[in-house]
Amino acid sequence: MNVYDSARMADVLRPLGYGPVDRAEDADMIILNTCHIRERAAEKVFSELGRLRLIREARQAEGRDTLLAVAGCVAQAEGEEILARAPYVDLILGPQTYHRLPEMVARVARAGRTIIDTDFPVETKFDFLPEDAAPQTEGNLTAFLTIQEGCDKFCSFCVVPYTRGAETSRPVPSIMTEASRLVESGVREITLLGQNVNAFHGLDGEKTVTLAGLAERLGTIPGLQRIRYTTSHPRDMDQSLIDAHRDNPLLMPFLHLPVQSGSDRILKAMNRNHTADEYRDIIRDLRKVRPDIALSSDFIVGHPGESDDDFEATLQLIRDVTFASAYSFKYSPRPGTPAAGQAFQVDEDVKDKRLAVLQALLREQQDAFNASLLGTTQDILVTGTGRKTGQLNGRSPYLQPVHFEGDPALIGKIVKVQITKQFTNSLGGIQSKETAAF
Ligand code: SAH
Ligand code: SF4
Repeated sequence: MNVYDSARMADVLRPLGYGPVDRAEDADMIILNTCHIRERAAEKVFSELGRLRLIREARQAEGRDTLLAVAGCVAQAEGEEILARAPYVDLILGPQTYHRLPEMVARVARAGRTIIDTDFPVETKFDFLPEDAAPQTEGNLTAFLTIQEGCDKFCSFCVVPYTRGAETSRPVPSIMTEASRLVESGVREITLLGQNVNAFHGLDGEKTVTLAGLAERLGTIPGLQRIRYTTSHPRDMDQSLIDAHRDNPLLMPFLHLPVQSGSDRILKAMNRNHTADEYRDIIRDLRKVRPDIALSSDFIVGHPGESDDDFEATLQLIRDVTFASAYSFKYSPRPGTPAAGQAFQVDEDVKDKRLAVLQALLREQQDAFNASLLGTTQDILVTGTGRKTGQLNGRSPYLQPVHFEGDPALIGKIVKVQITKQFTNSLGGIQSKETAAF
């Protein structure tokens, strides 16, 4: 979502004459778009600010000014602390106010001091984004699109409800307009974004549309070939969405569905509102309608109170479900969240050991999943040329990077590729003799 937000900040600043540069040394304005989800990410902001300050001073010595801004969730949660520790920052803005950037830039020039805007405004930033928004990822063929933001679930460990605010869904027409524009500009694969994307309930006039309904509507845009969505919560994995994985050919057979823990005791302490078996049931139902679906998840080890038995239950869940990929983290206490204040914090070295065991198991499963694709033919969205001459890069339905030899004229198309090689984080293949899928 920060990638999406950064692109939108670039959009609102473009009319002022700003454009992206490759090096901070060349920038008239530097925006750090920050993440507050774990302590390490938040701390990095301050070390990075120290480095950027030096760049600014070097530019100043050459008579060039540099505006320095901190945006995103660290700005939202720690605006005052940034002001105290790095008073040389010009702008501090939260994730819901970046549409006001142009006005803030004008104000800072007049004020000569730091401008802070970490409101949760009544207007939504989406209504203020310019229509000519452009920059995308991977050769303009894949794009993110935020459809829902914020969260009301208040998991014990998580800062999102405090930094991104209450859960809101964008109205359907605004999403359709943005999606159509993306597809017109060449995008073939859209990833719908939200902190709880499957809690989406956007209005279309009087009618409320679910995520399954939205995906169906998006399917009517000619030229759009793939839809993904992230991040989902198990509680919101309703039957209509499960069925959509059978009925909507654009939905990719790959789902990121964080479970965090396999222990019912810890799931309860985390306020996740479901059990490990309920998670297993969702996976079973998904595989029933879409047998080739692959799963990815997030795990936290060392949540307060987590015992060896609880951790073992997580390993058991992983063995039962089998994941194609996963993200796993050591629990990081976040200021203001319920879990941070609890007794029974788990020792750091115990967390380290558990994380190593968990990651070894997940790595094994990822390798096994990749190996299971050897010899199969997959639809690959060709996203660009590779590092070696004659090589093309693409994306499998399971988000794996795939390299193969082919004609650059295939860029933007979906072609059939037989998978022949497995690397640590990518696959290699040969373009299949079968005709291109699209
Ligand atoms: N809305 C998503 C997750 C968003 S946060 C969900 O409910 O699943 C992304 C991931 O960061 C989480 O899934 C979790 O695994 C991790 N995370 C969040 N807070 C954390 C914390 N305090 N310590 C460690 N990991 C955390
Ligand atoms: Fe955080 Fe996700 Fe829980 Fe919301 S549902 S509080 S975003 S972990």
